[in-house]
Amino acid sequence: MSMRLPVYLDYHATTPCDPEVIDAMVPFFGSEKFGNTYARSHQNGRRAAQALAHAKEDTASLLNAAPEMLTMTSGATESNRMVCEIAPSGRTEILISALEHPSVVNAAQESGLSVKVIPANPDGFILPEALKALISKKTRLVSVMLASHEIGTIQPVQELAEISHAAGALFHCDATQAVGRIPVDATMLGVDFLSFSAHKFYGPQGIGGLYARSGMVPRAGTVPLALAVGMGAACRIAAQTMADEAQRLRNLADTLLKALQSSLPEMRVNGALSPRLPGSLNLCFPGLDAEEMLLDLVADLCLSTGAACASRTRKPSPVLKAIGLSDEDIAGSIRLSLGRMSTHDDVLYAAEKVIDACLMQRKSCISRACQ
Ligand code: PMP
Repeated sequence: MSMRLPVYLDYHATTPCDPEVIDAMVPFFGSEKFGNTYARSHQNGRRAAQALAHAKEDTASLLNAAPEMLTMTSGATESNRMVCEIAPSGRTEILISALEHPSVVNAAQESGLSVKVIPANPDGFILPEALKALISKKTRLVSVMLASHEIGTIQPVQELAEISHAAGALFHCDATQAVGRIPVDATMLGVDFLSFSAHKFYGPQGIGGLYARSGMVPRAGTVPLALAVGMGAACRIAAQTMADEAQRLRNLADTLLKALQSSLPEMRVNGALSPRLPGSLNLCFPGLDAEEMLLDLVADLCLSTGAACASRTRKPSPVLKAIGLSDEDIAGSIRLSLGRMSTHDDVLYAAEKVIDACLMQRKSCISRACQ
């Protein structure tokens, strides 16, 4: 088997830039096409503004939105914060789902509004009834992500947005893990705001966007033109390749899962298998220490136990807690996410290595217990 080691299985954390994205960006970094999009008095500035307009069209088109509804931001973290800082009204509450990324949780907590959490069910879904039980005339904003960054489950956002609107609240969707991987139609979803980051779908790090149904949200500062052009290119590529790639990733994840299940019958999948992001798996190996397993695997596989940001704190994942896992099961869980570079050989190799690591750890647990 010839493959690039370690095999990368952490596409939820970030993805490499597509070579076509890099080619599209390079002229905008150098003297060939540089320019400030606000410097309209000369050719460089006008050319920059035109390139930005194209990038916006390509990005908006992926979301089935009008370019005027899109604000370029530094990424989903900034977009999420902008939404939580929307002008206050008489309403005092913000409802966020129990699955949200720390960037939503933190922004909500710092918004000055009181925060209530919409619980998830054990399958990893935010059900309409759970929102109905909490929403009231006090609710200013409801924030539910489209696809979970930890377990990959896809939420019934369209229905949740309808419920929110019926109660007079605004609806925000953090679609960071979904955009570029599955079809995301902001118009059909009926959301007021939608956040995303280019580096989750083979665009550059440091740029993303905020869709706002009511039109652009003001944002100061020079637009990073090369990154914006890169995001536009990544959106074009995603639109063309998404359907085939999604099917390929589903098949690979299926192969991986079957290979693991055949040797590790006690293994469980965290969250329902469907609907979920293609190529996304969160697995629990009861009784094992996932952190230790990742250390054993570090030369062979790039894996994580959960959100890249949460793994620094080593606190039990709040997402896995929210779907009812015990602390012990959380400690035995890993997240695997596949992407464009993933091959059939990669997943077989990954399965073999994970199985070896599990069996080795179990053996050493047993021998320690016997001493
Ligand atoms: N929301 C979700 C669901 C994410 O997975 C991430 C990235 N891990 C973010 C927001 C933040 O994205 P960024 O770091 O690009 O700002």
